[in-house]
Amino acid sequence: MKGTVCRAAIAVLVVAGFAAPAHAEWVRRVTDGIMGTRITVELWSDDNEKAESAIDAVLDEMRHIDESMSTYKPTSEISLVNARAADGPLHIGKELFDLLVTARQYSELTDGAFDITYASVGYLYDFRKHIRPTDDQIGKALPAVNYRNVLLDPKTQTVQFAQHGVRIDLGGIAKGYAVDCGIDVLKARGFTRAYVSAGGDSRIIGDRFGKPWMVGIRDPRKGEGEVITRIPLVDAAISTSGDYERFFDEDGVRYHHIIDPHTGHSASKVRSATVIGPYATRTDGLSKTAFVLGPDKAMEIYNRIDDVDAIIVKLDGTVIYSKGLEPAHKP
Ligand code: ADP
Ligand code: MG
Repeated sequence: MKGTVCRAAIAVLVVAGFAAPAHAEWVRRVTDGIMGTRITVELWSDDNEKAESAIDAVLDEMRHIDESMSTYKPTSEISLVNARAADGPLHIGKELFDLLVTARQYSELTDGAFDITYASVGYLYDFRKHIRPTDDQIGKALPAVNYRNVLLDPKTQTVQFAQHGVRIDLGGIAKGYAVDCGIDVLKARGFTRAYVSAGGDSRIIGDRFGKPWMVGIRDPRKGEGEVITRIPLVDAAISTSGDYERFFDEDGVRYHHIIDPHTGHSASKVRSATVIGPYATRTDGLSKTAFVLGPDKAMEIYNRIDDVDAIIVKLDGTVIYSKGLEPAHKP
C-alpha cells in the first residue's frame, strides 16, 4: 500500500556519456538541513561523477518535498491547505493529494493512532522552547483532531476540512515518503545497491555483496551510537520513533513530539518503536502507533500486517519483537 508515486519516478532519466568502470566504490554523503533533519545517501558506483549527480538528484527531490509539505514554510502547499481548507474544497497537486490518501489509510490501519490532524493540538507545543498547552487549550482544540475531518475528493482532487480549527501536519510520514522518492531516483538511474535515510527513516536497496546491511537500533536511554540490537536488512525500509528525539522533561513528566490524537497529550506508552517493511512511507506511518496504543495493542496490529515486523522498547526497558523476528532472538 504505497499509494503514492514520486515525481522523480515518473520522469524518464537519460544519463548520457561514457563511463569507464575503472573501479567501483561506496560513495556516501551526509547533509543537514533538509526537512529539518540529517539526510544520508550511500551507494555503490563505478563512476564517481554519476554517483555525485545521483546524490544531488536525491537531495533535490527531498528539497522539493520539503518545499510543498513543510508546515514550517508559510508558502508551502500544506500551509495553504491549513489556511484555506476549512472554507471549502481546495484543489491541490496530485502528489500531496495522494499522500493525504495514504495518510488516511494509516489512520484506518492503526485504529486512529496515526492521525495527521494531531497538529490541531500539536501546533500548541514547542519542544525547543519547552512550551506546552494548558488542559483548557487542549480541551478547546481537541474536537478538531480526527482524521475523518479531512475530506478528500479524488474526482476533483480537492481537500476540505469538516470544521474550523483543523490543522494537518505530515511530519509523521513525509520523511519516509521522501526516502522512498530518493530510492526511486536512484533506481531510475540504475543503482542497485544503495541506502537513503532521513532522520529515523531509512531504506535500502540490494545488499553489501553477499552480506546484508546492518542497521543499528538505538538504545532510547543512551547516547547516539549505543544500540540495543543490529538488524540485518536487504531490500527493506526501517523507521524508528523515539521519545528522545524532540522532548523536554518537566516535574518528572516527559513531553515529546508524538501526540495521542485521543487526548492531545504526549503519547508515552513506550520508549521507542521500530518498524521494518518494504517502503519507508509504510514504516514511518506505522512507527508512531506503539506510543499511542501501547506495546501489546500495537504489536497485535504489527503482527496482523503481513509485510512488516517490529521491535518495541517498553517503558521498563524490556524489548519485544514481532512474530517474524522472534525465533532469531529466542535462546
Ligand atoms: P521523525 O520526525 O524523526 O521521523 P517520527 O517518525 O517518530 O520522527 O515522527 C514524529 C512526528 O510525527 C512528530 O514530530 C509529528 O510531526 C508527527 N506526529 C506526532 N504525533 C502524531 C500522530 N499521532 N499521528 C501522526 N503523526 C504524528
Ligand atoms: Mg519518521
